Amino acid sequence: MDPARNHAPDRAADALSVLNSVFGLPAFRGSQEEIIRHVTDGGNCLVLMPTGGGKSLCYQLPSLLREGCGIVVSPLIALMRDQVAGLLEAGVNAAVLNSTLSFDEASEVERRLLAGDLDLLYVAPERLLTPRCLSLLSQAKIALFAIDEAHCVSQWGHDFRPEYIGLSAIAERFPDVPRIALTATADDMTRKEIVTRLGLDGSPQFISSFDRPNIRYEIVEKQNAPAQLKAFISERHAGDAGVVYCLSRAKVEDTARALTSAGIPALPYHAGLDAGLRARNQDRFINEDGVVIVATIAFGMGIDKPDVRFVAHLDLPKSIEAYYQETGRAGRDGKPSSAWMAYGLSDIVQQRRMIDESTGSEAFKRVSIGKLDALVALAETAGCRRSRLLGYFGEEVTGNNCGNCDNCLSPPQLRDGKIPAQKLLSCAYRTGQRFGAMHLIDVLIGRMTEKVTQFGHDKLTVFGIGRDLNEKQWRAVIRQLVAMGHLRADSEAYNALKLTESARGVLKGETEIMLREAAPGTRLRESRAKSRRGDLAPRAETRPADAGLQASLRAWRADIARQRNVPAYVVLHDSTIDGIAAARPSSLNELRNIAGIGDKKLEHYGDELLALVRTADA
Ligand code: ADP
Ligand code: ZN
Repeated sequence: MDPARNHAPDRAADALSVLNSVFGLPAFRGSQEEIIRHVTDGGNCLVLMPTGGGKSLCYQLPSLLREGCGIVVSPLIALMRDQVAGLLEAGVNAAVLNSTLSFDEASEVERRLLAGDLDLLYVAPERLLTPRCLSLLSQAKIALFAIDEAHCVSQWGHDFRPEYIGLSAIAERFPDVPRIALTATADDMTRKEIVTRLGLDGSPQFISSFDRPNIRYEIVEKQNAPAQLKAFISERHAGDAGVVYCLSRAKVEDTARALTSAGIPALPYHAGLDAGLRARNQDRFINEDGVVIVATIAFGMGIDKPDVRFVAHLDLPKSIEAYYQETGRAGRDGKPSSAWMAYGLSDIVQQRRMIDESTGSEAFKRVSIGKLDALVALAETAGCRRSRLLGYFGEEVTGNNCGNCDNCLSPPQLRDGKIPAQKLLSCAYRTGQRFGAMHLIDVLIGRMTEKVTQFGHDKLTVFGIGRDLNEKQWRAVIRQLVAMGHLRADSEAYNALKLTESARGVLKGETEIMLREAAPGTRLRESRAKSRRGDLAPRAETRPADAGLQASLRAWRADIARQRNVPAYVVLHDSTIDGIAAARPSSLNELRNIAGIGDKKLEHYGDELLALVRTADA
């Protein structure tokens, strides 16, 4: 299947017609068209696009448009399998070559490659680099090499894979075959390493904005995290698929149990689980509708599920890079999605302790602390979260109101915090910098606790000077002072709060302190009310009449997915189901106009889908 192969090179028209007939999509997105033209014409390039940006089409289409088979190098077996399943559904001759195949299966794939019977072949890097495979490739007609997750060549990056280093052999052995390297990891050093290792010097780099406009960022003050999470899911994402990240295995288990008993279908995932169970849980998350997976960060690489509607963090990640990568797993399909995090003082303290106690060098610890500080600043900012995030990655941001983060939707109140800050710092100082948050608050509020009596802290001038604020408000003051770096929790002394160098300026009144008002607890609800009005409201409102049809389409999809043993989204994307439920097509022609319905899907499923629409209308 390669409609354009024998045609005169009107590449642009060919590309669009293949996009439409095979993938059922009406138009290219962002720089896809430019990239596809460049590669189809035989050029090399590096593509930087955020998760969900649509990287796959950038090599899939040129593979269909050029003579020969496109070779896709990918480190992730699950991802290869799902992509191939999707391509087969669309009628593309695709296959994988990796360690999951038996000898006979692999031989059959090799035979088809040599016979010119394949459009796309996904190969694991270690497999590709075997002499047998390289010699096979040199006998076949190759359309291009696509190196997916190209940042894995970077020894400095977070996903380094030794087998990727060897991929420099591709440029040496096949200098005339175009190479396209793709990644969603943007930093400068990684980019340079990709260029050097994959021989892309002088080739164009296509760099897209890393903004994910469909993701709503929200960071809330942690109070009762399990209850907050349950409320977030049941009020905003009932029935949706999502990922909840926790730091520890025990917390993963507890949280999954708590959600399940609240009627939210949740499964645990962490490295301590039996491998079989872990794989089953991952499969259920990918293949079924509306499953929540509660996981440590071990989960996520290679999860290509497009309809993850939310990513929730119950613990602070260790950097903005990690936060952005993890939250980026939401909403690959471009539909409204949430990135939600609950965070508090103990999170800063915990992450800081992990750095202090790590075995890394001093330089490494300094870098880690810098990264943590940047993330904490994001959590504390009263400004637009999106501008902060993009600014961190070096992207210029126009305007400072994205309209789709908590701070833009419901700007926090700021007030002059000089006096409370001074009271708190004096209290820490006068009590000898030996106590944690709880005791300092007791002293400020003037509570006669056992500890207060024992140390005679009721005799201090700071005793009871903070009665104007309540305990929750004081917690917020402490958290923000720690975040600003005026206070530090000493992990070697039971998290005693100690003054830093910069505290002096605050005590002297030389440093301005603006504090966010402690959340009144209504912010969630407020932003929900606003979100109803916003264009990007998580969950588009569905007309009641559509809901029934949508449900029956989903049930049908689940059935087909089970029968064919593929993920539900491979059969039809959510957006395609929504499209059908909204348009209610009554003919194959009308159905063909819906995004996601290409020629093959029309042929396979057209009549069944039309019957479902008719039944719903009856
Ligand atoms: P990436 O690999 O960059 O994370 P994918 O290639 O998996 O992203 O694409 C993400 C989603 O966007 C997929 O669901 C895909 O079908 C969809 N998509 C990609 N390009 C287009 C397009 N031009 N029009 C509509 N949907 C698209
Ligand atoms: Zn914003």
